[in-house]
Amino acid sequence: MSGNKFKRVLLKLSGEALMGEDAYGINRATIIRMTEEIAEVAKLGIELSIVIGGGNIFRGVAPGAQGMDRATADYMGMMATVMNALALQDALKNHGVVARVQSALNIDQVVEPYIRPKALRYLEEKKVVIFAAGTGNPFFTTDTAAALRGAEMGVEIVMKATKVDGIYSADPNKDPTATKYSRISFDEVITRRLEVMDATAFALCRDQKLPIMVFSINKPGALKRAVCGEDEGTLVHV
Ligand code: UDP
Repeated sequence: MSGNKFKRVLLKLSGEALMGEDAYGINRATIIRMTEEIAEVAKLGIELSIVIGGGNIFRGVAPGAQGMDRATADYMGMMATVMNALALQDALKNHGVVARVQSALNIDQVVEPYIRPKALRYLEEKKVVIFAAGTGNPFFTTDTAAALRGAEMGVEIVMKATKVDGIYSADPNKDPTATKYSRISFDEVITRRLEVMDATAFALCRDQKLPIMVFSINKPGALKRAVCGEDEGTLVHV
């Protein structure tokens, strides 16, 4: 697939991608660096949608949330993703990129609700669409939201930015003999019990034949190379 630029992609960013080396929250330098990379991709004319996590903000409140009812904690987590989405939209604006935030939870005074045809229209207009509040339901993750919105938007690929530069045969931090896959099938991921996304997200991508690219958030230029179809990270294919 070398050299073939994608036309429409969905980027999954975990909240932790925004906090850099900080313990929680949004690190200014980190969000600026990430925004620069996203802006570069948007300016290539690639239709880009983003699902953002909330782990970075939730970490700050996690001690207080201990023992809390799961659904309540999940709603708090979804609200955290809205904060990240607004921060990302603002940072993109400063880089000359028009982005629209759509939320799966209704908070109309802050952001518009998720409306599929409207989101598709924004993509056609080459606006970046940031999907906030995950799926809008507790007991799900933003990985699942990425798979769901990716399928709804008809993207060619879900790009999952992580701290490691792909999928390894074992944890590279614990096992120095671990090797990285450049490509791997959905079936092989299951057989080898490798973790790519949570089971719900993974099953949705597999059922919809939606490839997943796992790449490093910390490697400069990796996002651009990945969306341009160059060898980067690991491709999970049908
Ligand atoms: N969340 C949720 N439903 C969703 C998506 C997310 O309840 O559809 C909650 C999730 O449980 C977590 C928070 O929102 O508490 C942030 O999501 P996630 O942990 O996936 O973010 P990340 O780890 O990628 O930053």
